[in-house]
Amino acid sequence: MCLEKARAWINQASSIAVLTGAGISAESGIPTFRGTAGLWKQFRPEDRATPHAFARNPETVWEWYDWRRSLISQAQPNAGHLALAELERSTPRFALITQNVDGLHQRAGSHNLLEVHGSIWKLRCTKCHREWHDQTVPLMLPPHCECGALARPGVVWFGEALPRDLWSSAEDATAASDVFLVVGTSAAVYPAAGLIHLARASGAKVVELNTEETAISAEVDCTLLGPAGEILPQLLNPNAQT
Ligand SMILES: [Zn+2]
Repeated sequence: MCLEKARAWINQASSIAVLTGAGISAESGIPTFRGTAGLWKQFRPEDRATPHAFARNPETVWEWYDWRRSLISQAQPNAGHLALAELERSTPRFALITQNVDGLHQRAGSHNLLEVHGSIWKLRCTKCHREWHDQTVPLMLPPHCECGALARPGVVWFGEALPRDLWSSAEDATAASDVFLVVGTSAAVYPAAGLIHLARASGAKVVELNTEETAISAEVDCTLLGPAGEILPQLLNPNAQT
């Protein structure tokens, strides 16, 4: 049975890497981009999350990000986020690679966190490229850098490259892992999909947790179907209540 096999692999592992996506945050009430109630049903990505949209209309883009910041500020990390923070404390080498920008892993207590798509709580100057954190909700729009130039959200937009240093840390952690967990993401899209191939090529056991089967289910060592907030506590603590 997948749950028991995966639990044994995790218990024997000295190095674990985890890749998370929107699914784990959806369980905290954060709207996802895709799916039936996805954000892209209401907004076209090219109008909200591209450098071109921001150059054309920074106020509209900022209003959308400010609205998302306020939704996220009202959400709480769920049992899945908390279980991953606990797994980090009990694993000698651990890295959490997330495609989420909401900061919920941090709030749950995760430390070695690679936010490869940036953070909605980070702002970046469009001129001097200084980066800083600001948790204010709502922001005074549009926010500016202390140099006077316009600030932008510190997230990776469509058409932009992932931060190189973060991404190579993600690849290193993946290649070094004995177990690679894929949580709440179909990971069908590159470059995230590349991490799964890298994990397999490096000999890691790859365990997928998702509410439904995905394009990668056929390639992984086992798939656990269900909400991360239920499955992760069961996986990491055999005495957890179901
Ligand atoms: Zn500046």
